[in-house]
Amino acid sequence: RFITFEGGEGSGKSTQIRRLAARLQERGRDVLITREPGGTPEAEAIRGLLVSGDVARWTARSEALLNYAAREQHLEQVIRPALVSGRTVLCDRFMDSTRAYQGYAGGCEPGFIDALERAVVGPTRPDLTLVFDLDPAIGLARAKSRGDHQAEDRYERKGLAFHGKLREGFLDILRKDPKRCRLVDASQDIDAVAEDVWSIVEAAG
Ligand code: C5P
Repeated sequence: RFITFEGGEGSGKSTQIRRLAARLQERGRDVLITREPGGTPEAEAIRGLLVSGDVARWTARSEALLNYAAREQHLEQVIRPALVSGRTVLCDRFMDSTRAYQGYAGGCEPGFIDALERAVVGPTRPDLTLVFDLDPAIGLARAKSRGDHQAEDRYERKGLAFHGKLREGFLDILRKDPKRCRLVDASQDIDAVAEDVWSIVEAAG
């Protein structure tokens, strides 16, 4: 099974992925945790190019192409082999992040992203996608309160307007694909979010 976790900055995805993985492992599931952009040495190198946004001046299309080069490596070398051997793959960000960041918030036209998605992801679409929804002002406040200067920087560099578009983008993706995507209210405390995540994953089978 292929489960992806999407949402804005500071929405608590990585903590929840670890909690979910532990719970699935207790039930005997063979779980692989991975992330995007990244998940292989080559894809992590591309991530380095993308997150050094203060020096790099990629266009939204170039960012989408870099994302997709990383995704091709990740799918071929890690995700597909894991799924074939029956593992449960939990991925921190996947194709919906490209659509939300480079598409909705970055201005890259949807048709460009559709074509990449068809060519690279093809039939390997996630079985389930959890969309962590959070007011960007709360995400920024969380980054500040935990002293996460990198996350704080990312907010400040792009601005709250960008993060507002990002949030709307994720919500639109969810509305358009309700069979695959589920909303998680990420403003709740960690335990409450973990319970919601667990009930969604259990209900999905
Ligand atoms: O998942 P995490 O928050 O660690 O992702 C790292 C950062 O990379 C994101 O916060 C975002 O700023 C950037 N990113 C991006 N476009 C994507 C995926 C991630 O700009 N498609």
